Amino acid sequence: MTELQLVGPRPAISEIDPASLAAWLTARGEPAYRATQVLAGAHRPDAAGFADLTDLPGPLRAALADAFRFSTIVDSHVIGADAGMTAKAVHELEDGQRIESVLMRYVAHGAMAERTTICISSQAGCAVNCPFCATGQAGFGRQLTPGEIVDQVLHWHRPPWNALGDAKAGHYNIVFMGMGEPLNNADRVFAAVRLLNDPDRLGIGARHITVSTSGVVPGMDRMIEGLPQVNLAISLHAASDELRDELVPINRKWPIAEVIAAGRRFAARTGRRVSLEYVMIDGLNDTPEQADGLIEVARGWRSHLNLIPLNPTPGSKWSGTPAAGIERFVRRLRDGGVSVTVRDTRGREIDAACGQLHAQLSGRSLRDAREAAALTATS
Ligand code: SAH
Ligand code: SF4
Repeated sequence: MTELQLVGPRPAISEIDPASLAAWLTARGEPAYRATQVLAGAHRPDAAGFADLTDLPGPLRAALADAFRFSTIVDSHVIGADAGMTAKAVHELEDGQRIESVLMRYVAHGAMAERTTICISSQAGCAVNCPFCATGQAGFGRQLTPGEIVDQVLHWHRPPWNALGDAKAGHYNIVFMGMGEPLNNADRVFAAVRLLNDPDRLGIGARHITVSTSGVVPGMDRMIEGLPQVNLAISLHAASDELRDELVPINRKWPIAEVIAAGRRFAARTGRRVSLEYVMIDGLNDTPEQADGLIEVARGWRSHLNLIPLNPTPGSKWSGTPAAGIERFVRRLRDGGVSVTVRDTRGREIDAACGQLHAQLSGRSLRDAREAAALTATS
């Protein structure tokens, strides 16, 4: 209870534990059942602030707003693409750090229902330093708290987006593919996943959540115990250690054989299919030799390969593999018995790859960026 009155930012409602909330309510003479009511209200798609929780008495709503943060995000700049099907936000946090999240909507297609994917960040920046990634180039800022991770999902769940509808029923996915290496912030990421799962909050099923990692082996093993129903994606990007040492520098610590062994353990222990992510860079990792190496590592276990054409960062010495090259690569892999798909490249026009919009807005206030965007839209 006392920790709620300590210096520092007010606790975030998205990460407060129910016992502390109940204690705070009881100290104010409120019945303890209000804790569930407050949590349910804070996760309603129509609530933009405590003032909107009109099933609570007015003075209590005001007291909640004084004691807790409805969101840890203090400002957001959102831009749209793909005819409104994609929206990307740069969020500013209390201490001025900025992170990104992306909303992608997909229309119904054949047997596939309409669905929504929300891509969120786990760290401000990233220390892994992959040379093709804008986040890696910008360096590491700090770890995100569980509340800061959950609040990115709440940003899109709340007005005006209401992207999840009734989160418990929806066709949606939450992917940790924004800024940061989630397994370098494993405790807080695990806590955030549990908050997202909580039926008294958003109630998002673990099977709708994917953690993407550059290959932090101990973290992958912790997922087997701690998050066995969450999907695992491994950012592979190369099939030889020589090339992967350059593209994903953490490979010098955990080389391909160890990362794949951890992926196989995860698949064997959880019964879940593991995604292997592979950014295709023209003339670098799209060669027949790399394809043959990939066949070796991807075949014979429950894995699925996702190919993603590189979205070049400004000033990049690399470009994405052209369509014909991707096709050739896919054919060789399929002939080799690998299950493979080519991921669509959402939001290219808004620099939707990891960390790019953030880099573009560096040094500008989000308000200026928003006003400039409004001018462009109306002119
Ligand atoms: N750090 C984690 C998760 C965040 S990065 C990881 O690396 O897995 C999420 C995905 O975006 C990774 O697969 C990453 O390789 C990819 N990515 C980063 N920069 C990219 C770019 N310029 N073009 C295409 N994909 C990119
Ligand atoms: Fe970090 Fe992932 Fe970017 Fe590599 S690709 S620098 S691990 S965010």
